[in-house]
Parts: sequence; structure tokens; C-alpha cells
Amino acid sequence: MQCPGGMPSLVVIVLVAGAVAALVSGVVAVVARRGRARRRAVCPDPARHAAKVARIAGALRERRSTAPLSLRKRSVSHMVPKPRDRRYRDDKLDLRELNELLVIDPERRIGVAEPGVTFVDLVAATLRHGLVPEVVPELKTITIGGAVAGCSIESSSFRVGGFHDTCLEYEVVTATGEVLVCTPDNEHQLVFQMMHGTFGTLGVLVRLTFRLAPARPFVHVTYERFTRLDDYLAAITGHAERRDADFMDGIIHAPDDLVLSLGRFVDRAPYTHRYDRLAVSYRSTRARREDWLATADYFFRYDRGVTNVNPLLGSSLVLRLGQWLHRLLRAERPTVTLDVFVPLSRARAFLAWYREEVGHFPLWCVPYRRVRDYEWIAPGFFAGLDDSIFLDLAIYGMRQRDDRNVYRLIEEELARVGGLKTLISHNYYSADEFWAIWNKANYDAVKRRTDPHNIFRDLHTKTCRATRGLT
Ligand SMILES: Cc1cc2nc3c(=O)[nH]c(=O)nc-3n(C[C@H](O)[C@H](O)[C@H](O)COP(=O)(O)OP(=O)(O)OC[C@H]3O[C@@H](n4cnc5c(N)ncnc54)[C@H](O)[C@@H]3O)c2cc1C
Repeated sequence: MQCPGGMPSLVVIVLVAGAVAALVSGVVAVVARRGRARRRAVCPDPARHAAKVARIAGALRERRSTAPLSLRKRSVSHMVPKPRDRRYRDDKLDLRELNELLVIDPERRIGVAEPGVTFVDLVAATLRHGLVPEVVPELKTITIGGAVAGCSIESSSFRVGGFHDTCLEYEVVTATGEVLVCTPDNEHQLVFQMMHGTFGTLGVLVRLTFRLAPARPFVHVTYERFTRLDDYLAAITGHAERRDADFMDGIIHAPDDLVLSLGRFVDRAPYTHRYDRLAVSYRSTRARREDWLATADYFFRYDRGVTNVNPLLGSSLVLRLGQWLHRLLRAERPTVTLDVFVPLSRARAFLAWYREEVGHFPLWCVPYRRVRDYEWIAPGFFAGLDDSIFLDLAIYGMRQRDDRNVYRLIEEELARVGGLKTLISHNYYSADEFWAIWNKANYDAVKRRTDPHNIFRDLHTKTCRATRGLT
């Protein structure tokens, strides 16, 4: 079909373009489906895993340089991107092939997997057996290795603590290329306990064994609303003591508008909602009395951001862009994204200070059970502290508008109330302040064993100095 001037008609152009677009999107969909199927398949091949570990251990044994080494994973990092972070310039240890699910054992309710497995793939694979990890962080592409080496909690944490509290065994490659199998009660028990929250500074997790819990197809969420903080805290205490829900988290929309979300597994749902498109999960807590979600949609209801929702992009893409373009980010007065852990008995004091000095709402609130007096915490930290529940209060995406450093103000207030913060973001602790919270004796004991030449940096340097471009 030619138009009079010899040009192909508009109809032909539109048809051809449509056909090409359909073909491309068909191919992309098939490739994506195959990729998902591969990532979610269980591949119990001990020899293949051993060969990967041998390659990583060999690379470390043969390395002659003592320059700092960072890890390269396949999926995006959920460390908050920082413009001067030295990790971008480090040599890299390649972990990209450690992405396989090795075992799902429905009888013993355990999973075994390589560290690069993401929670979205893990949940899809375990749900086929009616099981889920006991803690599922709410961003789809957080990996199980990162969840232990960083810090991962979610709405089941009021019952079971963090994801690391549900782990049974780690295979760890040391900086000198030794392979250690670490459990809570073998000769490497201190290495096992110390891996949590050490951000890859004590060695490389190459295989994790963790507990799985029975699941149902849907989660029924009910919202309890409060206008007084005391009533809110009392409700958290009550539910934590009775353990009368599978999941508990909340949104503090404002000091007098507090919502507690209680999730319970159910077999049937009258309808379901999902929050990965235009609907926004945290806003719905203000409007609804109850909600029903398919189990996987419940876990990832905040994937586009908890309270700083990106209307178009998932969290992975936003983080990936931030890392590619990290040099363009602001070094001074960076946006505040952080989690603090405050003992429940001191939450009122902390929030009174916070309301006065910072005043940014909404906050995400996740009750967290202190499962043990962790070896990575300094001995004095828990002294005189009877609380079995801490509150994780998360501030996401707060713009700093004046000359104060809100990160630093929060660090100082946490020291006063006996709280701590996760280290995924901007940290300004001096070494003395830092090691008054984290346990230096235990850290150094493991460091001497697993990274004697300090090629992974020490924890304070990596999280409080290198992130700011300092050595
Ligand atoms: C916007 C935002 C929201 C978040 N929300 C939540 C939340 O709601 N709940 C929650 O629990 N967490 C949350 N996090 C924190 C997140 O769980 C941690 O940052 C976690 O460490 C991310 O895991 P990752 O797989 O992305 O690991 P990465 O970011 O890639 O790594 C984290 C650290 O662990 C080290 N590491 C990674 N893999 C290994 C390994 N195999 N061996 C040794 N060290 C390793 C890395 O070197 C790095 O220092 C959030 C983070 C951000 C930025």
C-alpha cells in the first residue's frame, strides 16, 4: 500500500510498529519467565556449589593486594547510595554466581540457599510447599546474604526477631580463603553469632540454612487506630505477649494518628488487594479497617517504598539509579533514610524528643523481639534493660532543610535513651561512641580469625568513615 507520494501509508507504519513492539515484549516476557523459573527452581547439586565456593576461596587465597575489597552481587544493594562511598572504587570479589536455592525440606521445615537468592524468589519457591521464611523483609530484591550481613526485620519480628535469628548454619569463606561451617554450637559459634550486621567485614557468607514456617494462601490484615501514644504502646505490648497475630507492624501517621496493622494467615479471602501498582499500602492503613492480600503480596506490600512511595518505579530500580548516579547525590545534608531501634519502655521519651526536634511523619513502626543478648552488642548496652521488645522506627525520605545534621542528632539521642540504629545509611559515630554500642572484643576476636589483614575494612571504618569518603 503506497500513498500518492510513494510514502508507505500511516496504517502500514502503525501495523509494523505494533507488530515489532508485540514481538519484543513477547520475547522479553518469555526471557523474564524463564529467568524467574530458573531462579525459583531448587538445584540440589552439592558439587556445583562446592566448585563456586572453591573459586571464591581460591581468588582470596591468591590475592596479593591488601587494598580494601568489596563484594559484587547480581541484585541491587539496599545500602543507601552515598556520593563519596569508597566501596564504589574498591576492588571487587565476584559473588554473582551464588544465586541458587539448594534445599527446601518440607519435613524439617528448613531451607538452604546461596546468599544471592532474593526474598521474592525464595518466597515463591517455598510457598509451593506451603512454607515461607520466618522473616521476609518487605523489599523484593533484598538477598538472604544481605539480610544477615546487613540487618533485616519485618512484621513477624515481634515473634522471632530478625532474619538472622531464624538461621541455623552459615558457610563462610574467610579473607584468607578458608571455608568454615559455623553453627550456634560448634567451634565457630562466635563467628556464627557475629556475622549479623557486620556488612561483609568478617568474611563472605556463601551458604545459609534457615527455618521455614507454615503459611496459608492469604493474609487478613486488621487496623487498630489510636490517638494516644500510650494506648498504642500498650496495644503493642499486649499483642506481643499474647502472640495473637502472625504479623504486627504499624504506621505513625502523626503523633495523634497511630495505626497498628495485625496480619493473620487465612485460607480464604472475600477479595484481595495488592499494592505494587497505583494503590499505596501505608495510605490504605489510614482509610481501611481491614484488608485481604495474597501472602506474597502481603510480604511485598511496601516494595515501592514504605512511606516514601515512588509512584512509577519499584525500589530496586530507584536504588539502582541511585547507585549509578551516586556522584550526583548530595553529600551535605543528605535525605534521611534510617531505622532506629528503641527499647519499648523508652519509646515515649524518644518520640517526645523526636516530635519536638525532628517532627517528620509518617514513621514505620515494627516491633522487634530481643531474642538473645546478642554477641555483637557491647556488654554494657543491655545492662538494666529488661525490655523484651524494641521498636524499629523507620524514617524514609526526609529532606533535611536546615543546617542541623539530623542523622547525628538522632545518634546522640539514641545514646541517651539506650537505642541504636542500623548502619545501612549515613553514620557519624566516632570510634569510641561506636564501640560503646557494638562489641569490640568479640568483633576483634573474630576479625583476627577471619580477616587478619583487614582487607574487608573494620566495621566502624566501613560504615562510618568509608561511606563518607574517609579512610
Ligand atoms: C530504602 C530501604 C528500605 C529498607 N527497608 C528495610 C525493611 O523494611 N526491612 C528490613 O529488614 N530492611 C530494610 N532495609 C535494609 C536492608 O534489609 C539491608 O540493607 C540489607 O542488608 C540489604 O540486603 P541486600 O541483599 O541488598 O544486601 P547489600 O546491600 O548488597 O549488602 C549489605 C551489606 O552486606 C554485605 N553483604 C552482602 N552479601 C554478603 C555476603 N554474601 N557475605 C557477606 N557480606 C555480604 C555487603 O557487603 C554490604 O555491606 C532497607 C534498606 C533501604 C535502603
